[in-house]
Amino acid sequence: MKKLIPVLVALLTICNSHATLGQAFSGPFIKKVVIDPGHGGRDPGALSPDKKIREKDINLAVSKYLGQEINTHYPEIEVLYTRQKDVAVDLDKRGIMASEQHADVFISIHVNSARRSTSVTVGPETWVFGGDRSQRRDDSYDVVLKENEVIKFEEDYKTKYEGFDPDNPQSMIVFNFQKEAIMRQSKILGSCIQQSLRKGPLRGTEKDRGMKEGGFVVLAYCSMPAVLVELGFINSAMDRKVLGSTDGQKKLARQLFLGFEDYLKTYAENGKMYEKVPEDKKPASVYYHIQVAASKTALPQGHMLFKSHPDIKYIVCEDHIYTHKYFLGSFADLKEASVFCEKIREKHFPDAFVIAVQNGKLVPIIP
Ligand SMILES: [Zn+2]
Repeated sequence: MKKLIPVLVALLTICNSHATLGQAFSGPFIKKVVIDPGHGGRDPGALSPDKKIREKDINLAVSKYLGQEINTHYPEIEVLYTRQKDVAVDLDKRGIMASEQHADVFISIHVNSARRSTSVTVGPETWVFGGDRSQRRDDSYDVVLKENEVIKFEEDYKTKYEGFDPDNPQSMIVFNFQKEAIMRQSKILGSCIQQSLRKGPLRGTEKDRGMKEGGFVVLAYCSMPAVLVELGFINSAMDRKVLGSTDGQKKLARQLFLGFEDYLKTYAENGKMYEKVPEDKKPASVYYHIQVAASKTALPQGHMLFKSHPDIKYIVCEDHIYTHKYFLGSFADLKEASVFCEKIREKHFPDAFVIAVQNGKLVPIIP
């Protein structure tokens, strides 16, 4: 089996001697996730009809299970929480904490309740920050009001959120710290999570409540892709069975994780969608890598190339026939890269060569 590697690699590297501009970079860009268990302390959130099941407890439990899932499958990703106990945290502080921590993703976890019990409402919905100005004052608008309501408990809310009327989510727009690119990315994250939740334990409804936009205070202060998830309805007996049980909470966390993972993959496949621009906007440094193989499609995870070289990475070049370029090593210095390339050629990959990558794109090598 081992002897096959150089042959295969040689085949893969054919048609690959000229790199062009305009490629997207694939890599582990997401390093830090902030999970926000909604409500806490004096603010219980939504309550079951007998008031025994409290939203704040469900949110905290599901958040911790989600964090565990991420830790287990992606130990290199750091998971932070806005609260780990039953305490109150101001809405703005949750987003500000995530921004100060330079988190890459923010997931706020909540449980819904229908104000009007005219119809049985069930199932999950996912929200991103936004202001659809034509939004009617309907049930979904109520969700925004309900989740923002807690700021009335915050002592200095009138000065802190000056100009914001808690009864009018549209007035939150002035506080939006999210840029266009981040809002786009939030929508991708939101749809990944919503699609996954639909397959989860609360899918019992034909109608997908979908992904929506609203003026949530907690999301307004996030300067990274951010979503607010309403797992299900606490006043629906069907949803409550799942929401109130450990097994159900774990299953919900699992679906949240799978949605997050979907986003992770989408994101890694196309880093162009959202690039963190350094504050001083200085051009990104050029890094040199050693390309050892190329393939028309992504190689499966169990591929022998990864078995023999677990530290292999790749970039995707959409405009190439061999779209996936696999490489080893990372050097700021071209000479160092060339020395490493020679070693690699001698060992396993006779056709290996140096490539230059800047800001996720292949660039010409300038000696
Ligand atoms: Zn809530």
